Amino acid sequence: MARRKLVAGNWKMNGSRAALAELDAIAAAAKSAKGVDVAMAVPFTLIAPAAERVPGLAIGAEDVHDRDSGAHTGCVSAGMVKEAGASFTIVGHSERRADQGETSQDAWAKAAAAHRSGLHVILCCGETEAERNAGRAERVVQAQIEKSVPDNADGSWFTLAYEPRWAIGTGRTPTVEDIASIHAIARAKLRMLIGDAADEVRILYGGSVTGENAATLLAVENVDGALVGGASLTAEKFVPIIEAAA
Ligand code: PGA
Repeated sequence: MARRKLVAGNWKMNGSRAALAELDAIAAAAKSAKGVDVAMAVPFTLIAPAAERVPGLAIGAEDVHDRDSGAHTGCVSAGMVKEAGASFTIVGHSERRADQGETSQDAWAKAAAAHRSGLHVILCCGETEAERNAGRAERVVQAQIEKSVPDNADGSWFTLAYEPRWAIGTGRTPTVEDIASIHAIARAKLRMLIGDAADEVRILYGGSVTGENAATLLAVENVDGALVGGASLTAEKFVPIIEAAA
């Protein structure tokens, strides 16, 4: 089935109000790339000003708490980011798994909380370099998907992102054969979990996507878009990725 491509950026702990000027050209490129959805995840503090500045661009959070409210000092709920203007959130990013010790179970709970608040979810999975070298990449990704994908997930609110940890921010990417293999395995695992709805779920590739390699990566079977970190920080780098998806 034909799935619309999604190109999503992730600013991580970067950006400022001044940097939001980059979103003007990104929003313009998103508007002209008719067959592609474009989204940008920004730090919590930039969600409201970004959503106000570029109402036509989907702005999202990089994480949310798994509870709707309560005594959780320093945390931010899905409802709060929705109210600030976010339409989606990333959950289970490997940097949160590494820095905050988040598990696939946590990602599941966060995805469920985000869905309760009406946010679209981009849920991340991906193996470490040691796991790949040990021949365990497929099994690791399958286990992450099994533990983190909610039973009621479907393409209307849920997107999966395969991001091998060793490819993030390193300038290295898997071979197209390896990406095709993991994406096919991910699609098969989704089908086991959520049945035919799996065919509508977009599976993004993430990890060192650039304007130079985007066309090649996006042409791989079952790659329905990209999750982009470093190259999403400026329009100069991000717009060519949108154009490659169009
Ligand atoms: P990168 O990050 O594009 O800088 O490798 C991707 C990500 O972490 O989503």
